[in-house]
Amino acid sequence: MIEKGKLFVISGPSGAGKSTVVFKAMEGRKDVCFSTSVTTRKPRPGEMDGREYFFVDLDRFKEMVENDELLEHAEYVANSYGTPRAYVEEKLAEGMNVILDIEVQGARQVNEKKPDAVKIFIIPPSIEELERRLKGRGTDTPRAIEARLIRARQEYREANFYDYIIINDDAERAAKELAAIMLAEHCRAADKMDYLK
Ligand code: ADP
Ligand code: 5GP
Repeated sequence: MIEKGKLFVISGPSGAGKSTVVFKAMEGRKDVCFSTSVTTRKPRPGEMDGREYFFVDLDRFKEMVENDELLEHAEYVANSYGTPRAYVEEKLAEGMNVILDIEVQGARQVNEKKPDAVKIFIIPPSIEELERRLKGRGTDTPRAIEARLIRARQEYREANFYDYIIINDDAERAAKELAAIMLAEHCRAADKMDYLK
């Protein structure tokens, strides 16, 4: 029997290590895929169109919103971000686990449309460590880092919206926790009723 695909919504401050943890947890797995977002943000050094994001201009972004091509969309630190709907629907229909890495406003929109989505908040061990990681990543200007730290504190106030919180102290352990959550979510009684017929 093909298990239903599940949607995992991951949020957390920029620099918390979400991409690092998600890609570690996905290593060697064929049942999990990552939804690449569209953004109007400029690519950082080393980022590739179609890999980290689909980089688009504001006109194209607005067109996607008007055509209802996005499952959710939001503004974050003066840029727009959104989740292409078609990819997510297609992969869920194939029975895949789909991971979204999106901020809180987007997570709330997804929750409205897909109340079964599992919501996970990934945070660093402290705000000081977050600042170190953002500086260490070396991809954001001091101003962008400052804006991300302010936004992080705002997002922390919404942490109780999430089903799980992962503290990304050690990335290996955090990835194991994410994999464990995914495994446990597939053991939910409500999803196993067909086996009881
Ligand atoms: P996000 O996707 O949340 O913006 P990244 O995955 O880009 O964050 O990680 C931000 C920076 O922190 C990167 O330089 C990454 O290598 C580093 N990092 C990620 N996880 C850890 C960790 N557990 N310990 C130390 N550094 C980490
Ligand atoms: P960054 O610019 O650091 O890559 O991402 C900034 C923030 O945008 C992160 O919190 C990330 O989770 C969020 N983000 C990335 N893609 C999307 C998306 O498609 N929709 C929403 N709502 N947020 C996104």
